[in-house]
Amino acid sequence: MKPKRHIIPVFVPHLGCPNDCVFCNQRKISGKREPADGETVKKAIESVIKWLPADASAELAFYGGSFTAIPAEEQIALLEAALPFLRSGAISEIRVSTRPDAVDEQRLKRLCDYGVKTVELGAQSMDDEVLKASGRGHCSADTERAAKLIKKLGLGLILQMMTGLPGDTDEKSIFTAKKLISLSPDGVRIYPTVIIRDTALYELWEKGEYGEHSVEAAVDLGARLITLFEEADIPVIRFGLNPTDELSGGEAAGGAYHPALGELARSRAYLNCARELLSSARHDRDLVLGVGRGCVSLMTGQKRSNIYALINEYGLNTVKIVETEVPSGKKVAILH
Ligand code: SF4
Repeated sequence: MKPKRHIIPVFVPHLGCPNDCVFCNQRKISGKREPADGETVKKAIESVIKWLPADASAELAFYGGSFTAIPAEEQIALLEAALPFLRSGAISEIRVSTRPDAVDEQRLKRLCDYGVKTVELGAQSMDDEVLKASGRGHCSADTERAAKLIKKLGLGLILQMMTGLPGDTDEKSIFTAKKLISLSPDGVRIYPTVIIRDTALYELWEKGEYGEHSVEAAVDLGARLITLFEEADIPVIRFGLNPTDELSGGEAAGGAYHPALGELARSRAYLNCARELLSSARHDRDLVLGVGRGCVSLMTGQKRSNIYALINEYGLNTVKIVETEVPSGKKVAILH
C-alpha cells in the first residue's frame, strides 16, 4: 500500500501577483492575512511533522498566489526555510503554484536548485477572449510556453483550468481541456467559477453583466471534462473549490459552489457511461451493473439519483450495482 501523503499548505496570498483576475479576491484576503515568510514555513512544517505517522510522507505546497512572481529574495527565503526539512527527509517534496507569464528558465532553475519537484500552472482557459474577459493578464501562448519549459526542466506539471468564466462556453472548455491534454500534464485541477463577494465578478453579476455558472451546468460539463482527461490517462486531482467555512458561510454568493461538487461530477460521468452502454447493448429490465472497487456509490449517485434516472430513461424494473473487474479504461460494465 502507498504511504499516506500529507500536504502542508503555505498560502502566499497575492504575493507578487501583478493583476486582478475578475474572480479572485486574494488581494482582499491578503490584506487580512500575515504575509508568509521563512518563519511561517518553518512553523507550518513543524506543526504537521510532529504528529505524522512513521509510514506517512509530507509535501510542502505554496498555494494561493503566484510564487515565481514574488521578488527573488523572498522566494529564496521561503524555499531556504524548507530546505533543512527536505534534506532530513521530514518532507518529501515541494510544489509551487504560479501564473504562466511568471515562468522563465531562470526562475524554474532556481526552483530546481531548492528541490521543488512540481509546478502548478493556472492556465484557466486556452481561449484568449475568455482570458481577456477574466482579467487574467496573460494569453494561451504563455501557458503553452510555460508548460513546455516546466517539462523540459524535468519538473512535474499540474495544469489548472476553470469553467464558466466570463465569455466562456462548454465548447471553449472542451477546447481548453484538449489543449491541456496536448501539453501532457501529470494531473489537472478543474475549478468551476464561483462568484465570491468583493470581486469584480461579483459586481458584474450584480449588474447583470455576467450569467452565473450554476452547479448543474458545472456538474454536466465537469462529467464530460473528467471523462476526456481520464481517457487521456491524466488524473483529475481536484474538481471544485475546497469547501471552507467562509465560502459556505456566505462568501460564495453564487455560481458553482457545492461542498461535494467533485463527487457530483464524477457520479455524473458514471451515469453518462451507463447511458452509453444501455443505449447500445442488450440488457435485462432487472439490470445489474458492475463497477470497479470502491465505485458503487459513484454509480448510485447522491440519494440514488443515477438509479432513478436509469430506471426512468430505460424503462427498467430494478438496478443493482456490484463491484467487479471492469475492462481497463471503462467505468461500468453490464452484467445482466
Ligand atoms: S493570478 Fe492568481 S492570485 Fe493573481 S489575481 Fe489571478 S487568481 Fe488571483
